[in-house]
Amino acid sequence: MSARAYDYDLFVIGGGSGGVRAGRIAALTGAKVALAEEYRMGGTCVIRGCVPKKFMVYASDYGKHIAKSEGYGWSVDGASYDHGKFMTRMHAEIDRLSAIYDRNLRNAGVEIISERAEFVDAHTLRLKTSGRTVTAEKILIATGGRPWLPSPEELPGVQHVITSNEVFEMEAVPKRLVVAGGGYIAVEFAHVFAGLGAEVTLVYRGETVLRGFDDDVRLAVHEGLKEAGVRVVTTCTFERIEKGEGGLTITLSSGHEIETDTILMAVGRQANTEGLGCEKAGVALNENGNVIVDDFSRTNIENIWAVGDVTGRMGLTPVAIREGHAFADTEFGGKPWKMDHSYVPTAVFSRPEVGTVGLSEAEARRQHGEIDIYKTNFRPMKNALNGDTSRTFMKLVVRASDQRMLGVHVVGEDAAEMIQTAAIAVKMGATKQDFDQTCALHPSSAEELVTMRTKWQPEAI
Ligand code: NDP
Repeated sequence: MSARAYDYDLFVIGGGSGGVRAGRIAALTGAKVALAEEYRMGGTCVIRGCVPKKFMVYASDYGKHIAKSEGYGWSVDGASYDHGKFMTRMHAEIDRLSAIYDRNLRNAGVEIISERAEFVDAHTLRLKTSGRTVTAEKILIATGGRPWLPSPEELPGVQHVITSNEVFEMEAVPKRLVVAGGGYIAVEFAHVFAGLGAEVTLVYRGETVLRGFDDDVRLAVHEGLKEAGVRVVTTCTFERIEKGEGGLTITLSSGHEIETDTILMAVGRQANTEGLGCEKAGVALNENGNVIVDDFSRTNIENIWAVGDVTGRMGLTPVAIREGHAFADTEFGGKPWKMDHSYVPTAVFSRPEVGTVGLSEAEARRQHGEIDIYKTNFRPMKNALNGDTSRTFMKLVVRASDQRMLGVHVVGEDAAEMIQTAAIAVKMGATKQDFDQTCALHPSSAEELVTMRTKWQPEAI
């Protein structure tokens, strides 16, 4: 390590998944590391994202499990749900996880600074609460993102909406909820609240939710929303929101009005770079405010890096963690490597849920030309007795020339769990024949992934 011309070898801005991993790994090499976090340790994932969201998905699912258990002989009379009780337990768990992040950092020797840090120049940061300035040889921007909202000029009445941040503080389940958006967050919360008994309407500006996913997956999820009782309104946006005696009234671009109690806007996220002083350090941002980085997470300034959501590359926790780890290994551990953003598995916790890795059919055709498609759609065994009519859909996207598996897509119960494992094979470059030669595990839904034998022919449908 260089002689201490600076207060720290590394200063990390942001205590989310990427920043914490980078800070901890760097500190374990003996580097002098500080990490500034203005809110709570853990970032979006732990505090107001993946973790509490998944707890809410579980809470919502229990109601359905109870109802469906009758088909298996159970009789559960008088079941009821207490949102306050659930929230208290959920927040206790979040507190526990946040404390673990804090403890792991301290144990690794990282100095935690519980205030906001902003650039003064490329090596200097001002700490907002204390007014102190600190210097660092290397600086990592890991400030994450936050929900994006239109301005009051763009959407009059926008002050009446909530975002995914506030969902985790709601004291009661609203009777009527309108969700705006058709991405991960909108779809997941529409299902969560429908499962918890709210009357949910989802308003999406496109025709089929989950743009960017495989078209068959999108259709399955779109239908799944309707089957879950969500009213889906498409090709519409909000014109204005008004608050009255009976609640909130949304006027849509179609001219129709919707009355509701709560509006959740999930129309994308934006990078937390506002007020960070990137311009004082000379760090270049793109037109969306994301920090521009190369494959090694280097910004245009030689001593400054950025990882995670703030870069706008792939807004997923495990991606941020790996980017942070790669940065720390490369810069402090003498083990250079970079995050490979290909074949990253992802899930949407809709009902049924989506698990996907690799390319959609359309993207595979665009990149690779001739493609073989295998599809199956079946009623999972569990649903034979419980009255649940939902089906499981699976799709394999295979490069025709060498049979390499380019994409695996599952919509069905436990899809996320299946895809994590299938992703190992896909990432290793498995072919369709490797899947075929793998013996099925019976009885399971996942066995269908290795038993699809007939190529899908569009004209046969
Ligand atoms: P997404 O980018 O996934 O979706 C945004 C949605 O809002 C899209 O449907 C988009 O429509 C719509 N939209 C955007 N702008 C407007 C507008 N001006 N008016 C109306 N609609 C608009 O964002 P999310 O906020 O849902 O999620 C952000 C990211 O967080 C995800 O991309 C993902 O990386 C991460 N995430 C991951 C989860 C997981 O792993 N399970 C869960 C939650 C979040 P259109 O389709 O037309 O562009």
